[in-house]
Amino acid sequence: MSTSIAAKAAIVRNVGEPWTIENVEISAPQANEVLVRIVGAGICHTDTACRTGFPVPMPIVLGHEGSGVVEQVGPGVTDLQVGDHVVLSFDSCGECRNCADDQPAYCFTFYPRNLGGVRAVDGSNTVTQNGQPINGAFFGQSSFATYALARTKNTVKVDKDLPLEILGPLGCGVQTGAGAAVNALGIRAGESLAIFGGGAVGLSALLGARAVGAGTVIVVEPNVARGQLALELGATHWINPKETPDTLAKIKELVGGVNYALDTTGIPPVMAAAVEALLPRGVLGLLGVPPPEATVPANMMSMLIRGITVRYIIEGDSDPQTFIPRMTGWYKAGKFPFDRLTRKFPFEQINEAAHAAESGQVIKPILTF
Ligand SMILES: [Zn+2]
Ligand SMILES: [Zn+2]
Repeated sequence: MSTSIAAKAAIVRNVGEPWTIENVEISAPQANEVLVRIVGAGICHTDTACRTGFPVPMPIVLGHEGSGVVEQVGPGVTDLQVGDHVVLSFDSCGECRNCADDQPAYCFTFYPRNLGGVRAVDGSNTVTQNGQPINGAFFGQSSFATYALARTKNTVKVDKDLPLEILGPLGCGVQTGAGAAVNALGIRAGESLAIFGGGAVGLSALLGARAVGAGTVIVVEPNVARGQLALELGATHWINPKETPDTLAKIKELVGGVNYALDTTGIPPVMAAAVEALLPRGVLGLLGVPPPEATVPANMMSMLIRGITVRYIIEGDSDPQTFIPRMTGWYKAGKFPFDRLTRKFPFEQINEAAHAAESGQVIKPILTF
């Protein structure tokens, strides 16, 4: 019988409170689980949303863009070994209709598995403090901690010559953006894309589109530093909506229209412009979180006569076990410089790091351990 492991974890005790770093115990790995020593963990919008009110049980250890080294494997685990370098992603069951269809982001048990706070298999706790339960298992990891318990399903082995410390965002934010362009929209060489919002997800979509040889890529973003970075990363056009409020007219003036659009903002008038920017048979992918009461703000006749598709996309339609290695392959080939989006902070500065992302100073903060 293996014993639990002492660790330090960033805990949110009540909605809206800052993270506090406290001593905890992490459960030893059971079947289909591994214990990972965390070396880096990106902060994603979902972490800050959960801290400030998105419904998760409290107190909780968040963090879902972890990277690290396998320290222990559970009974029967053969596909991962102690010492493996890994990136942690979202959890899925592997058995439902959508998992069987290689679409694990739409797993029928996605929400209980990733946001339930306990092991989905038996409801037990993965994190305790002096024997008292703390919610964990966040996205099958809870990686704002020196050690995380992950499932083999959401643990992806990566090459040891990669910079492990910064790889965590490949497990959520970068995968969400790049996968939306490459997997969900299926953008191909020469095709055009307009991206509304140049944050971590929007710029990752740009990187993915560039990696597969897309043609025109327009980024609409009011933050000047982000707009300029978009141009450096290969956007053919940057539109600043503060200077050019009619972004739709500008897109039509520049290129006539686009094959694909992605909205990362969740703002209804932005989505309305994105629909109208599409050429016939165009597809709009929605990634942003809308206001709860928002309804779709599009003209149905206008969509009908162009044969438009509008769809929501979760985690970039990615299967992490295949898409993370694809992204690291692009990175090694110099075609996917996602490191340009990141900035490192020591784990102890988790509150400062989250604030830097919320205020727009930093695109993708990564905590280092
Ligand atoms: Zn499933
Ligand atoms: Zn995320």
